[in-house]
Amino acid sequence: MSKRQLAMVMDLNKCIGCQTCTVSCKTQWTNREGREYMYWNNVETYPGSGYPKNWMKLGGGFDKNGDLQPGVVPNLQSDYGVPWDFNYESIAEGEIFKPDSEPSWGPNWDEDEGAGVFPRDNYFFYIPRICNHCTNPGCLSACPRDAVFKRDEDGVVLIDLKKCQGYRYCIAGCPYKKIYFNPKISKSQKCILCFPRIEKGLPPACAQQCVGRIRFVGFLDDEDSQVYKLVKKFKVALPLRDDYGTQPNVYYVPPSKAPAKFDSEGKVIEGSDRIPMEELEMLFGKEVRRVVKTLNIEMKNKKEKGESELMDILIAYNHHDMFRLDNDYYQKTAKEKGNKPFDLIDRRYIAGKHTKGE
Ligand code: SF4
Ligand code: SF4
Repeated sequence: MSKRQLAMVMDLNKCIGCQTCTVSCKTQWTNREGREYMYWNNVETYPGSGYPKNWMKLGGGFDKNGDLQPGVVPNLQSDYGVPWDFNYESIAEGEIFKPDSEPSWGPNWDEDEGAGVFPRDNYFFYIPRICNHCTNPGCLSACPRDAVFKRDEDGVVLIDLKKCQGYRYCIAGCPYKKIYFNPKISKSQKCILCFPRIEKGLPPACAQQCVGRIRFVGFLDDEDSQVYKLVKKFKVALPLRDDYGTQPNVYYVPPSKAPAKFDSEGKVIEGSDRIPMEELEMLFGKEVRRVVKTLNIEMKNKKEKGESELMDILIAYNHHDMFRLDNDYYQKTAKEKGNKPFDLIDRRYIAGKHTKGE
């Protein structure tokens, strides 16, 4: 366990599936050099296959006794999808705009399909996913080279690129399938929680760019942070698939209310809810019932009395308030380590011979 832990809370009631987060991450970290197929941040439609395809069925994580479970490494062709480009050059010659290969699968392939029968009881919602920077990471336990490490200062999980030999046990061990193999350098790579930004007091790109203002970032022990308030004070943010045993540090405010269903004559079925509670329990555990109740009570309070601290936080009036990154803490840590001013607090991630900066 690290000294302190950074965490992210995502409010699923506000995610509009616009993929701005995905693009901001991709353009910054993964649009080049063997990382083209990787989505350190992806937003998937639930119910759906997710990314990589059927990731919830690919193993990894821990059983109730704390034993690491076997898992598989997804296949590029069938589970991730081979990235394609478009025929930009030939448009001028009159060709229609189309992919330059025949794609058969890719991230977001089943976007907005969801489940149920339109228009009676169909439903879906979006789940944005990054690495959970787990307290008990399956990736770290699975690595025979001790290449995966968790920073003591903030709990960010990174890969020491000098030690990594590309064995890919980490990918099998992560039940969220949030580590990827880079074939160009034969190393594994993953979300780094934008640590170079964080150390300068800036939130991760996915969080800062999020147009829905769904992402809060802060330290779990910082009682003034909205992350603390949502996770510990109001207890309305829950980890995804906590049953995998990795103790994720990304938390979700679950969808609190879906529209009612229609009967066969098109009449509203009063009191019905399109999202089955069993599905939410599978994703977020039994606590989700209490959370949904709390959210609905607080929403009513806000509407009727105009008062609710919880709703005020979730509405996120001030973008700035959503992030508390404690820049002083990082500066102090760097100073204690004897680092030069503005140097990164830990250089293991960038010390690989295939990465710039060393
Ligand atoms: S989500 Fe996966 S890759 Fe990220 S820390 Fe947890 S086990 Fe490791
Ligand atoms: S940018 Fe925000 S609202 Fe848009 S898909 Fe990402 S998490 Fe959802």
